[in-house]
Amino acid sequence: MTFETIRKEPGTFPAPPNLDDYEAARASFSWDDARRRLDGLPGGKGLNIAHEAVSRHVARGQGDVVALRYLDKRGGQRDISYAELDGLSSRFANVLADLGVEPGERVFSLIGRVPELYAAVLGTLKHRSVFCPLFSAFGPEPVQQRMSIGDATVLVTTPALYRRKVLPIRDSLPSLRHVFVVREGEEAAIPDGTLDLRAAMNAASESYEIGPTSPEDRALLHFTSGTTGKPKGAVHVHEAVVAHDVTGYYALDLRPGDIYWCTADPGWVTGTSYGIISPLAQGVTMIVDEAEFDASRWYQALQQHDVTVWYTAPTAIRMLMKAGTEMARQYSYPSLRFVASVGEPLNPEGVAWGQEALGLPIHDNWWQTETGGIMIANFASMDIRPGSMGRPMPGIEAAIVEHDKERGEVRVIDEPGQEGQLALRTGWPSMFRGYLHDEERYAQCFADGWYLTGDLSRVDEDGYFWFVGRADDVIKSAGHLIGPFEVESALMEHAAVAEAGVIGKPEPTAGSIVKAFLTLKPGYEPSEDLRLDILGHARRRLGPAVAPREIDFVDDLPKTRSGKVLRRLLKARELSLPEGDTSTLEESS
Ligand code: AMP
Repeated sequence: MTFETIRKEPGTFPAPPNLDDYEAARASFSWDDARRRLDGLPGGKGLNIAHEAVSRHVARGQGDVVALRYLDKRGGQRDISYAELDGLSSRFANVLADLGVEPGERVFSLIGRVPELYAAVLGTLKHRSVFCPLFSAFGPEPVQQRMSIGDATVLVTTPALYRRKVLPIRDSLPSLRHVFVVREGEEAAIPDGTLDLRAAMNAASESYEIGPTSPEDRALLHFTSGTTGKPKGAVHVHEAVVAHDVTGYYALDLRPGDIYWCTADPGWVTGTSYGIISPLAQGVTMIVDEAEFDASRWYQALQQHDVTVWYTAPTAIRMLMKAGTEMARQYSYPSLRFVASVGEPLNPEGVAWGQEALGLPIHDNWWQTETGGIMIANFASMDIRPGSMGRPMPGIEAAIVEHDKERGEVRVIDEPGQEGQLALRTGWPSMFRGYLHDEERYAQCFADGWYLTGDLSRVDEDGYFWFVGRADDVIKSAGHLIGPFEVESALMEHAAVAEAGVIGKPEPTAGSIVKAFLTLKPGYEPSEDLRLDILGHARRRLGPAVAPREIDFVDDLPKTRSGKVLRRLLKARELSLPEGDTSTLEESS
């Protein structure tokens, strides 16, 4: 089935878009102009994300505007104004300062969408320490790895998550000095070795003067995964707010007065860039829903809170599609103006479904942890070609390239329709500034003034980019990037497992699920009990979002002569695809 271009005739938009003429905006754009959209710290003391996100709105007399509308799991609602959020984040900054935490040290979170998370992120940025969110569905092993690589000093979590995921590994984290817990509901006791965050914040002052902040000071640490080795901690600096702000303005069409809802989990980069910083920089009201996905709850929230701009993800859209268009139509969304999606390929069916169910097409956009902000987008005023990620942001040069690794050279592929690696010209403000403690892997991402994204893509004759796949073996499952090496390592800790090869197996809703192929040590025989035991082991170690959903026992794994498991071949065999070039295979089976 082919999907027609969705035309955006001028005059047919629900409201004039911020970017009304793509070509003109690209031609006149400069990052210096984007910088001038922000205020900077009073007295010329630099650029601080938290000041741009909250304090400046208060200074401009907009402190009464609702910043967060928090919908708790149990059906309650609490509105938090910009002034209140400014005070709460100052309290958190004071808590850090009172404990002697130094700017530059790392504050981690392992917590869902609760008001304290927002106070902690912004308070950390005010204090000029570095914030690092973790995904609550991680098991103890991914948590340990990331906190250890990131030299975590402070952790904000809940009593339950602490007991299940941190306590078992706390002894292995010598730099972790302070663990704060946010009690849930009426929960009384807090675990030994932790501090009550609400009590500490209540005792702290709600005024805090942000110290001088260089735009190049480290602000955020976001973990991501590669094909091999440990997770990579992408470092972002305060200057990233320039991109957070202007991409929110152009690519999400945000403006004051908007009721904006980003459904991303706070543990991933979207949850920070577009679940906190970008919308607050625009002065909008954000919906913060503590609960997980629930189709009718979501439709009800869109309707009841008059959401105007909605940013969600393909897996969620596919789950809504599964729940049926009829359910969507039981509600109405007269205020909804713009719907966008990110994180994985959005099928053309998803774009069209938006029109059918919500009355608006869904605008796909593309970016990654390393880019810090949206790089390619379907803008509100631009025709949509369903299945395409859109066109590059003003200020961003994107190209399809061929990378000659030996020579470190990059050749731009000019012919439309040719596949190659997606690359971006370096130098945008939210570009990551390093992988923490891993300069070599950082250097490998760049050649000839280009950042190499690791994605395969093509561009059509009108400059629309189309996602083709990953150039490496990382797995996107329900929008979450999973490194196969991390999963293989955890599987090999099981007494019965000799070797492991892990792939992403296509699945209609989550995009991919994690599938493992295992060989067993002598003395172990494949059985259903053993499979369940290994699955249980992996879930305990890695958490349900990362652990394999399927395991196959095999006699041997295809490997290169140097002994690396050929995941591509495992995948080709699993999917009955051509096996491609097998000349580096150790054995032919
Ligand atoms: P992460 O760093 O976890 O945000 O993952 C980034 C990766 O997700 C990209 O490199 C792509 O492989 C994938 N991705 C993000 N957005 C899109 C999109 N709109 N279409 C296809 N893939 C996407």
